[in-house]
Formats: sequence, structure tokens, C-alpha cells
Amino acid sequence: MAATILVVEDEEPILNLVVAYLKADGFVVHTARDGESALMLAQTLRPDLVVLDLLLPGMDGLEICRRLQHDGGPYVLMLTARAEEVDKVVGLSVGADDYLTKPFSPRELIARVKAILRRRRHMSAPFPSESALLTFRDLQIDVARREVQRRGVPVTLTAREFDLLYTLAATPGRVFTREQLLERVWGHDFDGVDRVVDVHISLLRRKLEDDPTEPTLIQTVRGVGYKFTG
Ligand code: CA
Repeated sequence: MAATILVVEDEEPILNLVVAYLKADGFVVHTARDGESALMLAQTLRPDLVVLDLLLPGMDGLEICRRLQHDGGPYVLMLTARAEEVDKVVGLSVGADDYLTKPFSPRELIARVKAILRRRRHMSAPFPSESALLTFRDLQIDVARREVQRRGVPVTLTAREFDLLYTLAATPGRVFTREQLLERVWGHDFDGVDRVVDVHISLLRRKLEDDPTEPTLIQTVRGVGYKFTG
């Protein structure tokens, strides 16, 4: 089944261009020109992915992105303008899965969209039943439902945070380099912005660790990367 994509952009020429390319590639496409209608449409249409412009009239893209983050919320590809000088990592820290800086080539946009969706399909592939539930001391990861509990209390993770946690926790003790995590969780080279991994690790720690400065679940392996110790 074709993926459903919601494009949120107030600049008509860009909106039309993005929509035309996505449709030509076989996606089911809906559009919104501001945040309020974007959130309303996201609720009714349950799109797989939202292409979200950062600068919109009224509610900005960061706020929309924040509000889209809930269990089973859509993946988000954020569009930013160079002039806005927004730290790319800011967008990623509110749960965006990737970003593109304007002006971008429509082909690049299609490639990014596909990379995100490919990763999603891979992550949600059926797992053997015995590994559907990963349990470590007080942490429980329900792989099939993509739900996480700490001491029986549900923890809300963004899609990307879940993918990152699952990747690490599926093989406890194994050390992953930032490059390996980028490749597995983001699915393509991130313009060499290794910091995106660090940012997401720190977001995960804030949600999962008792003391994020003294992590016991996800440990830093100095000079190498990260490992899950459960
Ligand atoms: Ca705009």
C-alpha cells in the first residue's frame, strides 16, 4: 500500500513542487498551509510521514513537530531555510527524523522520504515472538507495539528514539559507533552530523535514566560510541 504523506508548507510554489514529485512517485499526498489544519489533518488521516516547513504563519514547525510526537505518531521530515539559521539539531531534538535545507532538489526530498520510510518498514518487520518483549531489570520494551515501560510506567518515545533504543537494546553489551547508529537508525549519511546521535542519546537518557548524568542503561564508550547495559 502506498504511504500517505502530509505536506505542510505555506509557500505555494514549493508546496506544489513537493506535491507533484511525491504524487509522481506514487505517494498518497495531502496538504496543509498552517499548523492548526496540519494537526487536525494528521489526526484524521494518520499519515505515515509529514513534510513540515519550519516557518509557517501562526504555530511554527517546531511546535507542530512537538505536538505530532505521540505513540505511533508520523515520521517528520523538516524543511528549513538557510536564512533562518536554525541549528539543525534543534529540529531533530523535537522529534524530527530528518531535515532538508532550502533550496533543495525535489529528487533529494524523495530520496530522504524513501530512506525514512524504508527504515520504518525495516524496524517494524515481524520479529520472532520470543524477542517481541525485551525485559531488563526495570525496563520493558514491547517491540511489536513499540512501547516502553520503566518500572511499569509507560515512557513516551518518539519514533526515532524508539528505533535508537531498540537498536542498542537488541544486543546488550555490544558497542556501536556513532556511524553505525546513524546508518542503522537514520538509514543514510547525515552530512556527517554525528551530534545527532549524541542529541538523541541524551534525550533517551532524560526519559529513561534515574540520573541522566550518571547513566546506567545506555553507557558512553569513550572515543568509540555507545552500548546498552540494561
Ligand atoms: Ca514557509
